[in-house]
Amino acid sequence: MGCTKVSPACDGCYAEALMDKRYGKVQWGNAPRVRTGAHTWHDPFRWQRQADKDGDRPFVFCASLADIFDNQVPADWRADAFEVMRKTPRLVYLLLTKRPQNIVKLTDAAGGLPVNAALGTTVEDQKRADTNLPALAVAKTELHPLFTFGSFEPLLGLVIVPPAFMPDWVITGGETDQGGHKARPSHPAWFRSLRDQARAAGAAYHHKQNGEWLPFDFDDLSSEELESVEIQGKIGGFADQPMMRIGKKRSGRMLDGITHDAFPEVPA
Ligand code: SF4
Repeated sequence: MGCTKVSPACDGCYAEALMDKRYGKVQWGNAPRVRTGAHTWHDPFRWQRQADKDGDRPFVFCASLADIFDNQVPADWRADAFEVMRKTPRLVYLLLTKRPQNIVKLTDAAGGLPVNAALGTTVEDQKRADTNLPALAVAKTELHPLFTFGSFEPLLGLVIVPPAFMPDWVITGGETDQGGHKARPSHPAWFRSLRDQARAAGAAYHHKQNGEWLPFDFDDLSSEELESVEIQGKIGGFADQPMMRIGKKRSGRMLDGITHDAFPEVPA
């Protein structure tokens, strides 16, 4: 548990809202990281036994209260985590990081990448696409993960991915409120663009959620509604369609009436 904010996607860090601000278990920023208890470290063995019974390969999002490639995490904790992964080979571990430039070095120091690990990075805007995706591509070449993935969430602008750097799996999503942090809008046109780029590149596409906002037409709103909702216009070049805060439940997770739920294929 614990981390330091490194990019705009971190502004609404869920783990900080939960473990620092709400429960006070760890201090965010340049402070010691906290190791979770034995029970948590034992969970994967239970999931492995269940997966053995079911004959499937569940995906496990690793270190959801931290960044697995944060260089302030003690190196032996990462080595221990990789050892757990090796001992639970049915589980497919998703290692998501906002520090993809650290992947190769820290993985080598932890004894190499487990064969059941996938590598991913967060890409919330074009700047992060230009830095994080090439770093992920280097890690793919060096470490041969099960697959690579890009988490385009919270999507904060239009992102164009050079085909050479397209990950195997594209996940998009809008931001949701976290504690005192109010979600920023993500325009559906940004999701559509990534959906189409993923399709053209043969990547699997998963759309997680639209977030708290959706576009609207002024003509569709009553005057009471207009007074009661929060509106933002001129979002990232899509000025014709202002965005309205309607809440994550109402905005749902469909894109143009379709649920996108694709997962990458993994060996049985
Ligand atoms: S890298 Fe992840 S865990 Fe760390 S501050 Fe950013 S959002 Fe939070």
